[in-house]
Amino acid sequence: MTTPAPRHPVAVAAILAVGSELLRHDRTDTNSLHITARLEELGIGVAWKAIVGDDRTHLTDAVRFACARADLVVLTGGLGPTDDDLTRDAVAAALGRGMTHDEPTIDAIRARFARRHLPMPDINRRQGLVIEGAVLLPNGNGTAPGQWIEDGDRIVLLLPGPPREMRPMLDAVVRGPLAGRVGRERLFRRSVRIAGRSESHAEEVLQPLYASWARGSVPVAATILAAFGLLELQLTVRHADAALADATLGAAAGSVVAAFGDDAFSSDGATMDVVVGRLLADRGLRVAFAESCTGGLVSARVSDVAGCSAYFERSVIAYSNAAKRELLGVPGEVIDLHGAVSEPVALAMASGIRERSAVDIGVGITGIAGPSGATDDKPLGTVVIAVSGPGAHQRVRTMLFPGDRQQVRTLATQSALDHLRRALLATS
Ligand code: ATP
Repeated sequence: MTTPAPRHPVAVAAILAVGSELLRHDRTDTNSLHITARLEELGIGVAWKAIVGDDRTHLTDAVRFACARADLVVLTGGLGPTDDDLTRDAVAAALGRGMTHDEPTIDAIRARFARRHLPMPDINRRQGLVIEGAVLLPNGNGTAPGQWIEDGDRIVLLLPGPPREMRPMLDAVVRGPLAGRVGRERLFRRSVRIAGRSESHAEEVLQPLYASWARGSVPVAATILAAFGLLELQLTVRHADAALADATLGAAAGSVVAAFGDDAFSSDGATMDVVVGRLLADRGLRVAFAESCTGGLVSARVSDVAGCSAYFERSVIAYSNAAKRELLGVPGEVIDLHGAVSEPVALAMASGIRERSAVDIGVGITGIAGPSGATDDKPLGTVVIAVSGPGAHQRVRTMLFPGDRQQVRTLATQSALDHLRRALLATS
């Protein structure tokens, strides 16, 4: 592969993942995520992407649309030998170019078959179709070569669909001709994770920061993502100087942490379970959980973290009232008087697991995940979380989570970890 002469720097990409199977509910387009990550390393931002089925008109339209919006259009998939492998045809049509059979490519495909003592089916000749003006990209792991096409200042790249074929080809392109076509600027990112705030409330706090970042000598762009009760603020800087970009992102992340206080729980990419683990390990404290409605999900998150044996002792899943009494020592009268989903029961679960496992902190979680079990005063989604310890500290909170059983359990899990985190911060 020869490196083309430098021209207009490539900064904006579009990705088209091709294949009707990718439109099914049980298939995921992972290639575009991989491509995005590799392009970002070069400072190329993905502005647009789509999944397009094996339809000539849709695909041709999508290529035209992408070409009008990006310096680089990457297509993955649809380079196979069958009639529904239409990527080559659609790109040729969109760019108004012809195609010819490349005999050396067809010979190479024939040789690949011969190595397995098979004759090459005639339809495989399609994989030797080369778009006028394209440079072929060798495929060490499959039959279809990729194609690199210069279209004015734009590059159109055809890559195979199977990840084991696509990835090495993309690597060769990223290290080779594409590296020579980008400007000196790179993308740098940092995220700040926030718990206990709604997206709109967080936006209010962030508006003045957004304005000051946009005015800065190194502008910081921000995107806020909300998922499962947490917010993630992604900060992005595009710059040629890595140290300056890093310092700018550090200062921006610092101002977010200052604005949100303890609600900002991570500015280095750490997830909630990792942050909780660090706090426990730093303080030399051990924890045990008594889970009812979360059925072990909290313990699963905590034990996901390597090295958790330093601070995680055990858990009890006490779903029935009998289990709460027998395994945690929750008094039967407390359950009868207040109900299994109540602050006194959650506290008794937390102190029960703490005492019985001789740890510094016990956490109790009880709730109504649904769809049945709700009462007038305890609606679906009611979850009570209690933390007992360290020392004489104890806290309990009743929450009301929206959504179905799955969502309530996920939110309860996240919230239990956050309660534990706040209890640890309060006792530092
Ligand atoms: P082939 O020569 O194997 O036909 P192709 O370039 O035509 O190559 P496709 O037929 O589109 O590739 O895809 C083959 C397989 O590769 C798919 O069944 C799927 O398993 C995987 N694949 C394709 N596209 C993607 C994608 N975007 N993300 C993840 N996997 C993909």
